[in-house]
Amino acid sequence: MSFAIDNEVKDRVRLSVNIVDLISSYTELRRQGRGFVAACPFHDDRRPSLQINPERQTWKCWVCDIGGDVFSWVMKRENVGFPEALRMLADRVGIVLEEDKGKGNRDDKKRLYDAMAWAVQEFQQCLLHAPEGAAARQYLQDRGLSDESIRKFQLGFAPESWSWLIDRASSKGIGADLLEYVGLAARGERGSRYDRFRNRAIFPIRDVQSRPIAVGGRVLPGASADVAKYVNCSETRLYHKSHQLYGLDLARDSIVKAKQAIVMEGYTDVIMSVQHGIGNAVACCGTALGEHQIKLLRRYCDSVVLLLDGDEAGQRRTREILELFVTEQMDLRILTLPDGMDPCDFLLKRSGGELQELVKGAVDALEHKLRVVCQGFDPLLDTHRANTALEDVLETMSRVSKDSLLSNEALRLRHDQLIARLGRQFGIEPSEIRMRMESIRRSAAERAKQRQEFRQNFAKTSTPNERIIGERGASVSEQLAAPNSGKAIDSSGSRFENEAAVCRYSEMNAIECELFEVMVLYADLVPMAIERFPVANLSCHTAKTIFQTYLDLELAGHTLDFESVLSAVEDAGVKSVLVSVESKAAEKLSYSKLSPEERLHSLCERLSGQEDRAHRRQQISMLENKHIDDNTAIDLLAQIVQQARLKHGLVETDTP
Ligand SMILES: [Zn+2]
Repeated sequence: MSFAIDNEVKDRVRLSVNIVDLISSYTELRRQGRGFVAACPFHDDRRPSLQINPERQTWKCWVCDIGGDVFSWVMKRENVGFPEALRMLADRVGIVLEEDKGKGNRDDKKRLYDAMAWAVQEFQQCLLHAPEGAAARQYLQDRGLSDESIRKFQLGFAPESWSWLIDRASSKGIGADLLEYVGLAARGERGSRYDRFRNRAIFPIRDVQSRPIAVGGRVLPGASADVAKYVNCSETRLYHKSHQLYGLDLARDSIVKAKQAIVMEGYTDVIMSVQHGIGNAVACCGTALGEHQIKLLRRYCDSVVLLLDGDEAGQRRTREILELFVTEQMDLRILTLPDGMDPCDFLLKRSGGELQELVKGAVDALEHKLRVVCQGFDPLLDTHRANTALEDVLETMSRVSKDSLLSNEALRLRHDQLIARLGRQFGIEPSEIRMRMESIRRSAAERAKQRQEFRQNFAKTSTPNERIIGERGASVSEQLAAPNSGKAIDSSGSRFENEAAVCRYSEMNAIECELFEVMVLYADLVPMAIERFPVANLSCHTAKTIFQTYLDLELAGHTLDFESVLSAVEDAGVKSVLVSVESKAAEKLSYSKLSPEERLHSLCERLSGQEDRAHRRQQISMLENKHIDDNTAIDLLAQIVQQARLKHGLVETDTP
């Protein structure tokens, strides 16, 4: 059994248990603001001090300075270890943990495809013919979607009912468990299944072979404001959202013909484009365009125009987009429409021809990035800001490994072209740019080495108390069966009562708190944070443990959003620290003016400032060594001067 399955079980239990229901079965809750409060059962409380956050599904008492999720609540209240808590919660919601052992049924992919195809047909019949589909028909018509489009894209409607689909399925001999496996049904308290899509227009997502593998559901106008506008199927055996593009099955031929794909953000954008004669449009299904999707598109074309809604979205993602551009050998262009319009609006107000014209003028990812980082100043005049901007671009470009540059001529050629363009933009010789990139590469390699050493040392020194995540080799059921002795798969050491090597929020310094705040708030920044933060700067056990936790989860390909990290962690102390970090982070959000990237950037900047100084001290002490020979001394001096020049933006532009 793999690590991923362990976490899958944890996630299923976590998603099925509502923390408000859980805690209210122990103690009386009172609504306060967006959350609930209760008298804390862990200290003599008159206030009430226990805070419950339904959005995050966490609890926290600042007086006791403990907190956590549903698992750590049960661990603390029932005085049990993680496996017992998992079993108790699973029982509570009727999830049978052993079920995953007999995976035979789930492995039968054909049944899953059939169930999905059947459901899509039911949704469509409902939209086209049923009386309860009338409002949805009206809505789609109002949005300008033609009958032909509705049929082509197999749009449908799921009525307002908790069991409309499940009831129909059971009359056809399709089990509710099957609907759950394909993401159309979910499980509530006590394990009963219900329809996930209710009172929503349904957009089926099909693979390249036109088989429905998932659906997206959009609320109709007039729905209450606290309902999510879009709901998508969760990841299933059929559907991995980062590997799919909406509409690709229909767009394939047009993409080949146009030698280009246009990637949009919304389902209706794609449908409307096709309706306006733009056949090569596809959409990401609720993710940012990533490497898997680029690889998929490269089968059909070598140019992609990414159409982003609004300037802000485009600016936030310049780094990832540039990285894709540099590493994926795809001509990646960026376009944002005027006046913050999305493609659907644009096509209704203007025309397909006008959109095509704009697409032709889209700038490539480097140009886009340069425009964003050089906004508001002239890079040839303001050298200090130009240096920061250049550094930012080079940092991304340096992620292409030297090996791949050496072995791949096309990639190398493109790299050279990009460097030449940067040289022109910033008025710097290409050789100088190469040198800087080299130095950025070296410090990245140094950090990677430190990270590896950190992992090894941590593994050596950590005791069973510190093993955070379930044993990779053991399934949950095996863990459950294990006696609570000192054996390898025992995790009773993670109880609150165990005082050895306990993690404490107060142990961390300001930089560490800031780092983890950024990480819990912005899952998409975690990989960058891991890569850029020099581990040698972690000062205390708690920070090292949290960092190690993220490293492990990232390596295992686990999702890194706060809730799933919290549930993957079994140690109650670590959970508690994470919850504290998240509360502080949420507080800070209301007054922090910096963007998440800026926060991370300035954090690493502060640290690398410290590193530079340490490095210079080392060089100077080498110079002071009397046994040093002249050549080495001159080299060292030249390095120090060069570093100082770089730092102050004094770069030579007239070197050969
Ligand atoms: Zn308390």
